[in-house]
Amino acid sequence: MQKTMKKLVIASNNPGKLREFQFLLQPLGIEVLTQAQLGITEAEEPHITFVENALAKARHVSRLSGLPALADDSGICVSALNGAPGVLSARYAGNNPKSDQRNNEKLLQEMQDVADRRAHYYCVLVLLHHADDPQPFIAEGEWCGEIAREERGGGGFGYDPLFWLPELDKMSAELGREEKHAISHRGKALKALLEKLKAS
Ligand code: IMP
Repeated sequence: MQKTMKKLVIASNNPGKLREFQFLLQPLGIEVLTQAQLGITEAEEPHITFVENALAKARHVSRLSGLPALADDSGICVSALNGAPGVLSARYAGNNPKSDQRNNEKLLQEMQDVADRRAHYYCVLVLLHHADDPQPFIAEGEWCGEIAREERGGGGFGYDPLFWLPELDKMSAELGREEKHAISHRGKALKALLEKLKAS
């Protein structure tokens, strides 16, 4: 089915993500608005899976704006911790306030005596054409690495100073923006979503 759209609202207030989405979607002739521009508050993220949280965010924004909406949800999943921090990645060490530094300290502590260091980042993107869309576009990406024993690197954000890439012999915080985007979970998910949009 043809699903052309002229406008889209990004269900996020993260400035880095907004710039990235605007840069990628404008060449498709889609005007990208933000939920802040429309005065829409952030949705709750109460679910235990990434995709449910992304759907909730997109539906909230689409319903209140009357426009198509794109949401993402992402996090880091550690094998030895049964997938934690997972959907709680942003607030692993607490919500008040959220702190990347305290999240990393907590993760290092939890992993102190753990030999299996395997982890992956995960990102899911959900695009709803309207709030009651029964057939959302869903795209996902994964990025495998290991949890290092100490922080290194000044780039990226979140868990990047601890996310070790054995094949590159680098932390993800040591990659340039373009270099990270080419191989990251979010880069892969965006590429898959763009393919779906172009084919629609
Ligand atoms: P959200 O998708 O904005 O809810 O982000 C979830 C959390 O997962 C972030 O606050 C980070 O802690 C973590 N995270 C997701 N993607 C990345 C990444 O590319 N690098 C580092 N941390 C990430």
